[in-house]
Amino acid sequence: MVAIAIDKVHKRFGSLEVMSDVSLDIPSGEFVVFVGPSGCGKSTLLRMIAGLEPISEGQISIGGRVINNVPAAQRDIAMVFQSYALYPHMNVYDNLSFSMKIARKSRAERDTRVKAAAEMLQLTPYLHRRPRELSGGQRQRVAIGRAIVREASVFLFDEPLSNLDAALRVATRVEIAKLKDSLPETTMIYVTHDQIEAMTLADRIVVLNAGRVEQVGSPIDLYLEPRNLFVAGFIGSPA
Ligand code: ADP
Ligand code: MG
Repeated sequence: MVAIAIDKVHKRFGSLEVMSDVSLDIPSGEFVVFVGPSGCGKSTLLRMIAGLEPISEGQISIGGRVINNVPAAQRDIAMVFQSYALYPHMNVYDNLSFSMKIARKSRAERDTRVKAAAEMLQLTPYLHRRPRELSGGQRQRVAIGRAIVREASVFLFDEPLSNLDAALRVATRVEIAKLKDSLPETTMIYVTHDQIEAMTLADRIVVLNAGRVEQVGSPIDLYLEPRNLFVAGFIGSPA
């Protein structure tokens, strides 16, 4: 089943077209990685899927329903940002349970889900700390935990590891690989400009360049049969 259908999508900021005629079907449960140089439109595409940015032309459907005019809060999507975007005044427990409070989940259900997510992400010892008392890697795990407790059918990650140092980046990448395995039905779109992340995590890689799709394929397909020099250069170059 197709989870997300992107159909002839364009995005303009004023007279500047930053996304031109992008079409892509993403099956349920797939882990898709968007790669491409800075400014090529990766975040803009994620933000249109999430409902944080209007779509100029074309349409996006989730689970068969066109969502162009559906508010972000009603899209069954959880998003993890590069900057974590945690609530600074709340401890980890409250950061994790906040969206469920808004959704009027019972205290017992919130507690069960928070504890399960904390266990999964090795955050149990830190539930009573504030974000400023955590390392960058722990903060990003809280941000991932907030996505998990929402049990959304789609997870979007926008360069979640790029603010971490090299060692933490590897450790957190391993956490994300585990998350992918433990939620096989959840569709995940992951933006990065790091080829190693793309190659190790992706079921399929979408190479974007200047607002267009250059090539879509499995990591091995792109590695062995890049369609053009741009893809070859991008996949082959060191991180
Ligand atoms: P990426 O995430 O691939 O680095 P972005 O999606 O952030 O790229 O940006 C794509 C293009 O759109 C860039 O040229 C950027 O300058 C432009 N852009 C993004 N957001 C805005 C905005 N709010 N107003 C005007 N231009 C924008
Ligand atoms: Mg970006």
